[in-house]
Amino acid sequence: MKFSELGLSQSLLKAIKRSGYEEATPIQEQTIPMVLKGQDVIGQAQTGTGKTAAFGLPIIEHVDTDNPSIQAIIISPTRELAIQTQEELYRLGKDKHARVQVVYGGADIRRQVKNLKHHPQILVGTPGRLRDHLRRHTVKLDHIQTLVLDEADEMLNMGFLEDIEAIIKETPAKRQTLLFSATMPPEIKKIGEQFMTNPETVRI
Ligand code: AMP
Repeated sequence: MKFSELGLSQSLLKAIKRSGYEEATPIQEQTIPMVLKGQDVIGQAQTGTGKTAAFGLPIIEHVDTDNPSIQAIIISPTRELAIQTQEELYRLGKDKHARVQVVYGGADIRRQVKNLKHHPQILVGTPGRLRDHLRRHTVKLDHIQTLVLDEADEMLNMGFLEDIEAIIKETPAKRQTLLFSATMPPEIKKIGEQFMTNPETVRI
Protein backbone atom coordinates (compact mmCIF):
# COMPACT_ATOMS: atom_id res chain seq x y z
CA MET A 1 0.00 0.00 0.00
CA LYS A 2 1.14 3.56 -0.67
CA PHE A 3 2.24 5.63 2.32
CA SER A 4 0.12 8.51 1.01
CA GLU A 5 -3.04 6.49 1.80
CA LEU A 6 -2.23 6.08 5.48
CA GLY A 7 -3.09 9.57 6.72
CA LEU A 8 0.43 10.94 7.16
CA SER A 9 1.32 14.58 6.51
CA GLN A 10 3.43 15.94 3.65
CA SER A 11 6.57 16.49 5.73
CA LEU A 12 6.57 12.83 6.72
CA LEU A 13 5.84 11.64 3.19
CA LYS A 14 8.90 13.63 2.14
CA ALA A 15 11.07 11.97 4.77
CA ILE A 16 9.74 8.54 3.77
CA LYS A 17 10.58 9.22 0.14
CA ARG A 18 14.06 10.39 1.06
CA SER A 19 14.56 7.18 3.03
CA GLY A 20 13.88 5.28 -0.17
CA TYR A 21 10.77 3.53 1.18
CA GLU A 22 8.41 3.03 -1.75
CA GLU A 23 5.57 1.07 -0.23
CA ALA A 24 4.40 0.54 3.34
CA THR A 25 5.18 -2.91 4.73
CA PRO A 26 2.25 -5.02 6.04
CA ILE A 27 2.89 -4.07 9.69
CA GLN A 28 3.05 -0.38 8.71
CA GLU A 29 -0.12 -0.62 6.65
CA GLN A 30 -2.06 -2.08 9.56
CA THR A 31 -0.49 -0.27 12.48
CA ILE A 32 -0.06 3.34 11.29
CA PRO A 33 -3.79 4.22 10.95
CA MET A 34 -4.54 2.67 14.38
CA VAL A 35 -1.72 4.52 16.10
CA LEU A 36 -2.70 7.79 14.41
CA LYS A 37 -6.19 7.33 15.90
CA GLY A 38 -4.70 7.00 19.37
CA GLN A 39 -5.43 3.29 19.74
CA ASP A 40 -3.27 0.99 21.92
CA VAL A 41 -1.68 -1.68 19.72
CA ILE A 42 0.03 -5.02 20.32
CA GLY A 43 2.11 -5.82 17.25
CA GLN A 44 3.44 -9.29 16.75
CA ALA A 45 6.33 -8.66 14.38
CA GLN A 46 9.96 -9.61 14.01
CA THR A 47 12.83 -7.24 13.38
CA GLY A 48 13.16 -6.47 9.69
CA THR A 49 9.43 -6.04 9.10
CA GLY A 50 9.56 -2.26 9.34
CA LYS A 51 8.10 -2.12 12.86
CA THR A 52 10.23 0.88 13.85
CA ALA A 53 8.59 3.11 11.23
CA ALA A 54 5.20 1.52 12.04
CA PHE A 55 5.25 3.13 15.50
CA GLY A 56 7.75 5.88 14.66
CA LEU A 57 5.86 7.63 11.88
CA PRO A 58 2.64 8.23 13.88
CA ILE A 59 4.72 9.29 16.91
CA ILE A 60 6.53 11.89 14.80
CA GLU A 61 3.20 12.95 13.31
CA HIS A 62 1.83 13.66 16.80
CA VAL A 63 4.88 15.35 18.28
CA ASP A 64 4.44 19.01 19.13
CA THR A 65 7.81 20.53 18.26
CA ASP A 66 6.98 23.74 20.15
CA ASN A 67 6.64 21.73 23.34
CA PRO A 68 9.99 21.01 25.04
CA SER A 69 8.80 18.02 27.09
CA ILE A 70 9.40 14.36 26.30
CA GLN A 71 6.20 13.27 24.57
CA ALA A 72 7.11 9.74 23.49
CA ILE A 73 9.35 7.12 25.01
CA ILE A 74 10.56 3.93 23.34
CA ILE A 75 11.98 1.25 25.62
CA SER A 76 14.39 -1.12 23.82
CA PRO A 77 16.12 -4.25 25.13
CA THR A 78 19.61 -3.50 23.79
CA ARG A 79 21.91 -0.63 23.15
CA GLU A 80 22.17 -1.64 19.46
CA LEU A 81 18.41 -1.59 18.93
CA ALA A 82 18.07 1.66 20.87
CA ILE A 83 20.70 3.38 18.71
CA GLN A 84 19.22 2.01 15.49
CA THR A 85 15.74 3.19 16.54
CA GLN A 86 16.98 6.65 17.47
CA GLU A 87 18.71 6.97 14.09
CA GLU A 88 15.60 5.98 12.15
CA LEU A 89 13.33 8.29 14.15
CA TYR A 90 15.78 11.15 13.80
CA ARG A 91 15.93 10.67 10.04
CA LEU A 92 12.15 10.48 9.68
CA GLY A 93 11.55 13.43 12.02
CA LYS A 94 14.21 15.72 10.58
CA ASP A 95 11.92 17.81 8.33
CA LYS A 96 9.67 18.45 11.30
CA HIS A 97 12.66 19.32 13.50
CA ALA A 98 11.64 16.73 16.09
CA ARG A 99 14.36 16.22 18.69
CA VAL A 100 15.15 12.54 19.26
CA GLN A 101 17.67 11.27 21.79
CA VAL A 102 18.92 7.92 23.05
CA VAL A 103 20.19 6.77 26.45
CA TYR A 104 21.71 3.37 27.20
CA GLY A 105 23.86 1.66 29.78
CA GLY A 106 27.61 1.25 29.57
CA ALA A 107 28.08 4.82 28.38
CA ASP A 108 29.04 8.01 30.23
CA ILE A 109 25.92 9.19 32.04
CA ARG A 110 27.17 12.77 32.41
CA ARG A 111 27.31 13.17 28.67
CA GLN A 112 23.74 11.86 28.40
CA VAL A 113 22.62 14.29 31.10
CA LYS A 114 24.20 17.12 29.13
CA ASN A 115 22.42 16.02 25.94
CA LEU A 116 19.10 15.71 27.78
CA LYS A 117 19.32 19.44 28.52
CA HIS A 118 18.54 19.98 24.82
CA HIS A 119 14.98 18.83 25.59
CA PRO A 120 14.34 15.81 23.40
CA GLN A 121 10.68 15.30 22.48
CA ILE A 122 11.19 11.61 21.69
CA LEU A 123 13.45 9.51 23.90
CA VAL A 124 14.71 6.00 23.15
CA GLY A 125 16.43 4.04 25.90
CA THR A 126 17.31 0.76 27.53
CA PRO A 127 15.41 -0.08 30.75
CA GLY A 128 18.20 0.10 33.34
CA ARG A 129 19.64 3.38 32.13
CA LEU A 130 16.22 4.98 31.74
CA ARG A 131 15.45 4.08 35.33
CA ASP A 132 18.76 5.52 36.41
CA HIS A 133 17.86 8.84 34.75
CA LEU A 134 14.45 8.80 36.43
CA ARG A 135 16.09 8.36 39.83
CA ARG A 136 18.40 11.28 39.10
CA HIS A 137 15.46 13.34 37.82
CA THR A 138 17.33 13.95 34.58
CA VAL A 139 14.38 12.45 32.67
CA LYS A 140 10.76 13.38 33.38
CA LEU A 141 7.94 11.39 31.89
CA ASP A 142 4.90 13.32 33.09
CA HIS A 143 4.07 14.63 29.60
CA ILE A 144 4.35 11.30 27.81
CA GLN A 145 1.60 10.70 25.27
CA THR A 146 2.93 7.49 23.77
CA LEU A 147 4.94 4.71 25.38
CA VAL A 148 6.45 1.93 23.24
CA LEU A 149 7.70 -1.40 24.56
CA ASP A 150 9.85 -2.66 21.71
CA GLU A 151 10.88 -6.33 21.53
CA ALA A 152 8.98 -6.89 24.77
CA ASP A 153 9.69 -10.64 24.83
CA GLU A 154 13.43 -9.94 24.69
CA MET A 155 13.13 -7.44 27.53
CA LEU A 156 11.34 -10.01 29.70
CA ASN A 157 13.94 -12.67 28.86
CA MET A 158 16.65 -10.26 29.92
CA GLY A 159 14.97 -9.70 33.29
CA PHE A 160 13.85 -6.12 32.70
CA LEU A 161 10.25 -6.51 33.91
CA GLU A 162 10.81 -4.67 37.18
CA ASP A 163 12.58 -1.77 35.44
CA ILE A 164 9.83 -1.55 32.84
CA GLU A 165 7.13 -1.45 35.51
CA ALA A 166 8.99 1.28 37.37
CA ILE A 167 9.30 3.35 34.17
CA ILE A 168 5.63 2.90 33.24
CA LYS A 169 4.62 4.09 36.73
CA GLU A 170 6.28 7.44 35.99
CA THR A 171 4.15 8.04 32.90
CA PRO A 172 0.62 9.48 32.91
CA ALA A 173 -2.19 6.91 33.21
CA LYS A 174 -3.85 8.54 30.22
CA ARG A 175 -1.38 7.64 27.49
CA GLN A 176 -1.14 5.53 24.38
CA THR A 177 0.75 2.28 24.87
CA LEU A 178 2.22 0.25 22.02
CA LEU A 179 3.84 -3.15 22.47
CA PHE A 180 5.89 -5.01 19.89
CA SER A 181 7.04 -8.57 20.37
CA ALA A 182 8.15 -11.39 18.08
CA THR A 183 6.45 -13.95 20.32
CA MET A 184 3.35 -13.76 22.52
CA PRO A 185 3.95 -15.88 25.65
CA PRO A 186 1.45 -15.49 28.53
CA GLU A 187 3.71 -12.97 30.33
CA ILE A 188 3.43 -10.61 27.37
CA LYS A 189 -0.34 -10.96 27.32
CA LYS A 190 -0.31 -10.13 31.02
CA ILE A 191 1.61 -6.91 30.39
CA GLY A 192 -0.96 -6.07 27.74
CA GLU A 193 -3.78 -6.54 30.23
CA GLN A 194 -2.01 -4.65 32.99
CA PHE A 195 -0.71 -1.63 31.13
CA MET A 196 -2.84 -1.23 28.03
CA THR A 197 -6.37 -0.03 27.29
CA ASN A 198 -8.41 -2.17 24.88
CA PRO A 199 -5.39 -3.01 22.73
CA GLU A 200 -5.86 -4.09 19.12
CA THR A 201 -3.62 -6.96 18.09
CA VAL A 202 -1.83 -6.92 14.75
CA ARG A 203 -0.13 -10.07 13.52
CA ILE A 204 1.93 -10.30 10.41
P1 AMP B 1 12.78 -2.68 11.36
O1 AMP B 1 11.90 -3.89 11.28
O2 AMP B 1 12.06 -1.51 11.88
O3 AMP B 1 14.06 -2.96 12.10
O4 AMP B 1 13.18 -2.26 9.86
C1 AMP B 1 14.02 -3.06 9.06
C2 AMP B 1 14.66 -2.24 7.91
O5 AMP B 1 13.71 -1.95 6.90
C3 AMP B 1 15.23 -0.91 8.34
O6 AMP B 1 16.50 -0.77 7.75
C4 AMP B 1 14.27 0.12 7.78
O7 AMP B 1 14.94 1.33 7.48
C5 AMP B 1 13.73 -0.56 6.55
N1 AMP B 1 12.33 -0.19 6.21
C6 AMP B 1 11.32 0.15 7.04
N2 AMP B 1 10.19 0.40 6.38
C7 AMP B 1 10.46 0.21 5.07
C8 AMP B 1 9.68 0.32 3.87
N3 AMP B 1 8.37 0.66 3.90
N4 AMP B 1 10.27 0.05 2.70
C9 AMP B 1 11.58 -0.29 2.67
N5 AMP B 1 12.38 -0.41 3.75
C10 AMP B 1 11.83 -0.16 4.95
